Amino acid sequence: MDSSMMKVVTLGTAGGPRWFAGDTKDRTGIATAIVVGERFYLVDAGHGVGRRIRQAGLDLDDLGGIFITHMHSDHTIDLPSLIVFGMQALHNRADDPVPIVGPGQRGALPPVSPRALVPPRPVAPANPTPGVSGLFAGIVAAYATDINDRVLDALRPSPEVLFDPRDIVVPEGIGYHPNTDSHPEMEPFVIFKDDLITVTATLVDHPPLAPAFAFRFDSEHGSVTISGDTCESANLVRLAQDTDLLLHEAIDFEWVDGMYAQRQDDNGRAVRDHHYKSHTSVAGAIRVANAAGAKTLALHHLVPSIADDAVWTRGREEFTGTFLVPDDLDVLTVGAAVDAAVRS
Ligand SMILES: [Zn+2]
Ligand SMILES: [Zn+2]
Repeated sequence: MDSSMMKVVTLGTAGGPRWFAGDTKDRTGIATAIVVGERFYLVDAGHGVGRRIRQAGLDLDDLGGIFITHMHSDHTIDLPSLIVFGMQALHNRADDPVPIVGPGQRGALPPVSPRALVPPRPVAPANPTPGVSGLFAGIVAAYATDINDRVLDALRPSPEVLFDPRDIVVPEGIGYHPNTDSHPEMEPFVIFKDDLITVTATLVDHPPLAPAFAFRFDSEHGSVTISGDTCESANLVRLAQDTDLLLHEAIDFEWVDGMYAQRQDDNGRAVRDHHYKSHTSVAGAIRVANAAGAKTLALHHLVPSIADDAVWTRGREEFTGTFLVPDDLDVLTVGAAVDAAVRS
């Protein structure tokens, strides 16, 4: 990689906790690499991320940090592969562990849907809402037989030495509560800083999941903002002000309506409700990008990932900057302008 550049590699561009059949683009789970000089930072770890990192020509030893926007499984499902297979791939990180930065404990279970006829029983009642450090501890515990083989017999450093999980603390005094106000108006706050980048975050609107974050990466070369999962968010507009590249999630509500039109039962309606209050249409993503003055808008976390490009480009002329719908493994160069999506 050219050390004078900042780039984004769209490792995985599909959203949602499922495998779609018939995806001609072969989109894998949501994951984005932000490359600054020789280092790269990973945002979310959807399914297939380890393989995509390799296909992008990135080396796990150059990983500056893993950033998790929120605790939904489509953003974390391959964290176990990075943590456990990382024991083979990380060669010089025992004294320089990879930070894993993400939400802390939710702290309270979400309310039961009013459509429930019988209240469902939560799993893992002793610790039902872990954040990123709880997830890390659980992964290490779940894979202990394998990890201990390698630690005791092959004398490999353990994931506890190679990784450094860090829970993001939501600022006090903004009125945040996971159930009653998960998206209060707030100023972006710094969650990470090293010699190359500063990462700021804000709460976005993805109920009932909370906290849900958007992240902004600023380097001397420019800025990249990633929406995380959210409906249209004023906090995100503030975070993304004048950003060079905004990667925003997008859902096709026509697909949602078509899928649940056949399902008038309460479970079907509950899932449909979830999509409408928690995700953003293409038109909505364009509104957010225009309000923020983003120079380039790239859509990712596409739901459904099998939709034709025409679904994602409808109304693109409403956006005043450069509009992109990247495939997996596209490279977007961030600088004076993000003006090209170049196939890697
Ligand atoms: Zn998602
Ligand atoms: Zn989500």
